[in-house]
Amino acid sequence: MRDVTIMKQLCVEALSELKDEQLAEGLEGLKRFVNLFKNDFKSCADAYFLEFVGQLDVNLYKLDSSGNNFRELSKTYIKRVNQTNVDTETIWEIVSSLIWELCAFCTDEICPQCKSDNLKEVQNLDSEIYEVCDTCFYAESNGIAVLMPMELLPVLKRHRF
Ligand SMILES: [Zn+2]
Repeated sequence: MRDVTIMKQLCVEALSELKDEQLAEGLEGLKRFVNLFKNDFKSCADAYFLEFVGQLDVNLYKLDSSGNNFRELSKTYIKRVNQTNVDTETIWEIVSSLIWELCAFCTDEICPQCKSDNLKEVQNLDSEIYEVCDTCFYAESNGIAVLMPMELLPVLKRHRF
């Protein structure tokens, strides 16, 4: 297996910077981490999402901590990253899902399908808006249930309200 010691170390550093009162700084740190290892993540990441993270302007997203406690979340993730057999793919999974949770806008609407998560407002690569559930993959567009689109990104601030 590839030696991921340095990757692990820098990932833990980026994760420990993530605090609920400083989400923008925390997100910048995760972005820097991803860009540092972009070539390593190419094998396991969706290209469009890797590209998104690489060019992420944290000021364009309404960083939302309402549905999460990021301090606790990062502690849990640090434990996972510190496990001995962690690989590049697991690290990417952790970091990309955190970035998603940070940027994606959580609505007040409960998922009508699983009723256990709030819908997130997202957009596809053509900037069409969807509401989706991360838990059961329910998706809707203009209030009508649709198939979950393949490539989704967080919505920009200006799309809302
Ligand atoms: Zn659901």
